[in-house]
Amino acid sequence: MPGWGFTCAASGACCDFDAYGHRLYATRLEAAWFFARTPRRANADPRLCPAFGRERLCHSRAGRMLGCRVYHCGPYPRGLPEDLYARYFERLRALHERHGVPYAYRDIVEWAAELLPAPAGNPPPRAGVQ
Ligand code: SF4
Repeated sequence: MPGWGFTCAASGACCDFDAYGHRLYATRLEAAWFFARTPRRANADPRLCPAFGRERLCHSRAGRMLGCRVYHCGPYPRGLPEDLYARYFERLRALHERHGVPYAYRDIVEWAAELLPAPAGNPPPRAGVQ
């Protein structure tokens, strides 16, 4: 986003959802785009974005969702990420209507549970199951 002057420190902090304290939501078309470019998980933790690698880098730069593309550490000299998000989010919503795709907007972790195969190995413990 060179025109907006945002800065990204490439720390991976904002992709570490639980530690950072936020979630990433995506529309159905964004999820389809993302998972077409992210055929397998870069980690085995179902609470993480499936593209978040152990080295704290994104393994799906080409497939990133709008939220990933506009969120930056700051400072924000020429506008806020949420303003930019709102502008392009309307275009995403309109794309669903134009192409007859049922609109949905969900946490990327929920999309992953639906659209990606489970990671190999032992499944993580579930609450209430011993
Ligand atoms: S797609 Fe990449 S940039 Fe977006 S949350 Fe996942 S790891 Fe981070």
